[in-house]
Amino acid sequence: MYDYDLLVVGSANADLVIGVERRPGAGETVLGSDLAVHPGGKGANQAVAAARLGARTALLARVGDDGHGRLLLDSQRAAGVDTVGVLVGGAPTGVALITVDPSGDNSIVVSPGANGRLTPADVRAATSLFHASRVVSAQLEIPLETVVEVVRNLAPDSRFVLNPSPPRPLPPEVLAACDPLIVNEHEAKVILGEACGGGEPEDWARLLLAKGPRSVVVTLGGEGALVASADGVSRVASVKVRAVDTTGAGDAFTAALAWRLGAGESLAGAAAYAARVGAATVTKEGAQRSFPTAAEVAAL
Ligand code: ATP
Repeated sequence: MYDYDLLVVGSANADLVIGVERRPGAGETVLGSDLAVHPGGKGANQAVAAARLGARTALLARVGDDGHGRLLLDSQRAAGVDTVGVLVGGAPTGVALITVDPSGDNSIVVSPGANGRLTPADVRAATSLFHASRVVSAQLEIPLETVVEVVRNLAPDSRFVLNPSPPRPLPPEVLAACDPLIVNEHEAKVILGEACGGGEPEDWARLLLAKGPRSVVVTLGGEGALVASADGVSRVASVKVRAVDTTGAGDAFTAALAWRLGAGESLAGAAAYAARVGAATVTKEGAQRSFPTAAEVAAL
């Protein structure tokens, strides 16, 4: 019996957002709207998304001993995430400085801060969390060597899910542990590199599978997703909704998929549920505040 359905290992950032008429060029100063501060980061987002659906969720992350760190801890706890694995100190909390113009185009500067100080030693010190978790998920907003250590610390019967974002080439040891590797088009292209060629998403899914993961999911925004495993490649239909803001859709999709796989659903079944969660997410503004409850997914 596991204490947690999902352990998320990853980043926690404060998103500092200012609306501007025009994004500034070099050496330029522009006036903007009041500052909005939102909890974010792919790890924190996935944990909140899973907990909101009803998954028993823990987060292994690092934040600074500062106001942004407290904001992140509060938002995790408010969603029902167990923060026993959230380490505090070592550097300021990670921050994303975001300017958005009226057309919705943005410019973002990320300071990884404490996320960059989540070390392999921190992972080894959290062995009890790994042994208490049915599924472990990670992303790449923390050091790659830390993700490698995550793979080495998985409990024998647990399952590992990776969304390699921001993408970079992955060592064979990490690829072999993924079940599934979840990528969007951009991530697929970076991981495949030259091999990607001009192929179709079905081809990327097969090529990615040949790199070692036990299964692969390619998310296609409003077009749904593809799942690929030794059983073949199949399409997951998207749910038609009026999209307002796609921020966080990938994080919500990954969290939902990881949770449903842990509950024993097939890859295709879990991906179909995750597509409903992704669709519900894009109907609302923002990231964490747009993640649906299980009741909202059922009502979609
Ligand atoms: P992001 O980086 O913006 O969080 P992503 O690129 O990682 O997202 P997407 O492919 O955009 O991931 O979205 C994940 C899933 O959410 C899709 O596979 C799909 O099921 C669902 N989804 C996303 N956008 C839409 C949409 N406009 N309509 C319906 N479903 C959507």
